[in-house]
Amino acid sequence: MRRIIFATSNEGKMREIRLIMEDSGYEVVSLKEAGVVADIEENGTTFEENAMIKASEIAKLTGELVLADDSGLEVDYLDKAPGIYSARFLGENTDYTVKNNYIIDKLNRVPVEQRTARFVCAIALAMPDGTCVTRRGTIEGYIGYEIRGENGFGYDPIFMVPEYDKTTAELSMEEKNKISHRAKALLAMKEVLVELQ
Ligand code: IMP
Repeated sequence: MRRIIFATSNEGKMREIRLIMEDSGYEVVSLKEAGVVADIEENGTTFEENAMIKASEIAKLTGELVLADDSGLEVDYLDKAPGIYSARFLGENTDYTVKNNYIIDKLNRVPVEQRTARFVCAIALAMPDGTCVTRRGTIEGYIGYEIRGENGFGYDPIFMVPEYDKTTAELSMEEKNKISHRAKALLAMKEVLVELQ
């Protein structure tokens, strides 16, 4: 079976990708499992660029097929902030209760039609010959009026999914994984990988 490295040390992401890639004919291993230690600066200007930077650096180091992702929240009323800075927004170590309350306060009295937002995930596949392919997945929603839900992470407690009338923090992991930006990007990338075989 052909091996592919997923450039993350996040166990949650690994679980999700393994589930999706189960029947793809590839064995997916994490950076740690591949024995790779790397600290790569994400200095791109788009989700795609950041994902490509990560994937191609690791592909150069290992000579193997490498996948990497970059994701974040775009709030239209805030000119698509925090966007690619989602993790660093208000400081890398700032609690998400503070970040989420900040966004809710910024949208004080803003009507629901103007609260539109989306989670974006770009996945890059880097080949040992230096070429790179990307795929993007999104989930559309709006910023809620309060923090709701205990599941998930990051901005999930303020991201309302209209079809469910719930935040992504109120959905179970199984429900979220069916509709998430990451799942959509992974499924699109799986098609690319299956074609490669
Ligand atoms: P990264 O792609 O691991 O760098 O994550 C970027 C940041 O985007 C995370 O730290 C979260 O703040 C945010 N983010 C990405 N996906 C999600 C999600 O599914 N729920 C909540 N926050 C997310």
